[in-house]
Amino acid sequence: MSYHIPSDDQIKVALKEVLRKFRTVQSQSKLKELATKELNTKKKKFGVTGSRLRKIAINSDFVKLEIHSREGNPKKLMTKCPVCRSTLKRVKNLTIWGGEVTIEFRCPNCGYWTGKKKRIPTRYIFHLKKKKT
Ligand SMILES: [Zn+2]
Repeated sequence: MSYHIPSDDQIKVALKEVLRKFRTVQSQSKLKELATKELNTKKKKFGVTGSRLRKIAINSDFVKLEIHSREGNPKKLMTKCPVCRSTLKRVKNLTIWGGEVTIEFRCPNCGYWTGKKKRIPTRYIFHLKKKKT
C-alpha cells in the first residue's frame, strides 16, 4: 500500500476535527495518530510527519501549543527556534536597579522563548484555542 501526502488544508481540517473531539491532545505522537486516523479513508491512506503537523498547528488560529521542556547547555548557541525552525530574536532585558542585562531569545512565530539556561522542548501538548467573543 502506498501513502498519500495530504495538503496543508487537508491537515488543517483533520487537526480541527481532532481538537473539536478531544479538546486537548497530550503529545505530538498522539496528535499524529489521531490526525492520520482522521485523514484516512477506506481507499486512501495518508502519511504525515509529526513536525509537519506541529508547524501547521502553530500557524493555525485554533491551536494553542503548550511546550514542556528540560534545561539544555547554557553555552550552546541557539539561533533557530526548536519548535518551528524560525529565526530567534534576541531580546535584552535591563533590570531596574542594577542595570544588569539578561539576554533572552524569543520566537516571533510560535511564542517559544529561552533564557541563558536553554529550554529544550521535550513534549508538546495541543489545546483547542477558545474563540474570542
Ligand atoms: Zn518558533
